[in-house]
Amino acid sequence: MSVGMKSVTDRLRDSGLLRTQGLIGGKWIDAYDGKTLEVHNPATGEVIANVSCMGGKETKDAISSAFDAFNSWSKLTAAERSKGLRKWYDLLMAHKEELGQLITLEQGKPLKEAVGEVDYGAKFIEFYAEEAKRVYGEIIPATLPDRRLFVLKQPVGVAGAITPWNFPLAMITRKVGPALACGCTVVVKPSEFTPLTALAAAELALQAGIPPGVVNVVMGNAPDIGDALLTSPQVRKITFTGSTAVGKKLMAGAAGTVKKVSLELGGNAPCIVFDDADLNVAVNGALAAKFRNSGQTCVCANRVLVQEGIYEKFADAFSKAVKNLKVGDGFGEGVVQGPLINKAALEKVETFVEDAVSKGAKVLLGGRRHSLGMTFYEPTVLSNVKSEMLVSREEVFGPVAPLLCFKTEEEAIHMANDTNAGLAAYIFTNNLQRTWRVSEALEYGLVGVNEGLISTEVAPFGGVKQSGLGREGSKYGMDEFLEELHLFITDATNLNDLLL
Ligand code: NAP
Repeated sequence: MSVGMKSVTDRLRDSGLLRTQGLIGGKWIDAYDGKTLEVHNPATGEVIANVSCMGGKETKDAISSAFDAFNSWSKLTAAERSKGLRKWYDLLMAHKEELGQLITLEQGKPLKEAVGEVDYGAKFIEFYAEEAKRVYGEIIPATLPDRRLFVLKQPVGVAGAITPWNFPLAMITRKVGPALACGCTVVVKPSEFTPLTALAAAELALQAGIPPGVVNVVMGNAPDIGDALLTSPQVRKITFTGSTAVGKKLMAGAAGTVKKVSLELGGNAPCIVFDDADLNVAVNGALAAKFRNSGQTCVCANRVLVQEGIYEKFADAFSKAVKNLKVGDGFGEGVVQGPLINKAALEKVETFVEDAVSKGAKVLLGGRRHSLGMTFYEPTVLSNVKSEMLVSREEVFGPVAPLLCFKTEEEAIHMANDTNAGLAAYIFTNNLQRTWRVSEALEYGLVGVNEGLISTEVAPFGGVKQSGLGREGSKYGMDEFLEELHLFITDATNLNDLLL
């Protein structure tokens, strides 16, 4: 282990945040067969830690713990649950630097961005600590004078939360925050690539006084863990963030026990730059929307559609801006582009670029592995890209910006909507009428206008079409963990009416 990495892991160990076992019923536990899996630093390939490699058996026990804990957690007052969440938020913020280091270590994103993720992720806990107190029901005007009709909001029960590696903290807090606020308990399954941040966050939940069994974490064999969650009748909700392919499998699997499901899946975001856009705003917005997390976010601009009148100017200014992006280990000074998560991700990017070039795309910048080796890829700009190329059809999930040219607004809308995905879209224009017209014509769950960073805990996040079901964040994120109980009360003195 390099000296730099050792000092970071030593500090994390000293602060009690470097956890490597699963968390079941408030206890840190090894896999029952003793198996472990290695967690790597994608920037160096070094092994950071060996974590318990769990499967179906451990998951069943985690579900039982969550089921038992549900009885008491759901019966606490909203104010008591709120207090626990608020304390958890305070601890996440107090350990912001260490958590940020952990994210950079196992996920690779630059430290500043990683600390930013801790801020963003913790805000979901803060927001839902407040929202816990606002789970209001309703009184419905009754149909007869001696009847009273109520709607009570009740927690759905145990939730299985399966999360990806690209936001090791925020994708967990965005689910666990509202779940706990509503009175649900959770079994979290983080990605095998980034379990350490999840475990550190769970440690802080325990320290915050959130009772044992309310938050459980298992990681390891994903299909076995998934199966255990899907087949258990005690799990009443599956909340998933990840690829569309896995999301579809989970949705089908949840049908067996008819669970509530919410899915935050892949995107294929268009970023549309109109002739009337402010060039600087468009370049900076597209840069942020494309290159955050080295292009590894679901809302990353996957296709940059530029109107013909501004195309050359934009391509030139954008390429210059991309050229300035400093690539390196996320701990390095001034680095804004880290490595890709693993070799498979690197090879996918290479395949997409090769496909585009073989079909006539032009490399304006980059287009190859970075001289740093490992999984580093050069920030890349491609021009003359066409809709039928792989890079336009699927998520590249890497630092590659394909530029496509369009003539008219109608053509841009058609190109933007010509995909099964429907998560985020961006438009750059100074024309107010166009802003409304295009935003409403886009088949997307989120639209950023003259803005490249659009995620916030206070607004609903989620996709349409095959990008998912349900919303996370904001007051709407609570609905995913609640059921409506219709309570029908009759005046007992008039029971005879019921027999009529
Ligand atoms: P992934 O391969 O679908 O994995 C996501 C999670 O599912 C991981 O924890 C993974 O475990 C687990 N998993 C895989 N196969 C499973 C199975 N058969 N049963 C149960 N769980 C299973 O996605 P990823 O590569 O981690 O993440 C990238 C994808 O997530 C991209 O498509 C991106 O767009 C999407 N994403 C969407 C949003 C959104 O809000 N819409 C946000 C972030 C990311 P292991 O890692 O341990 O295999």
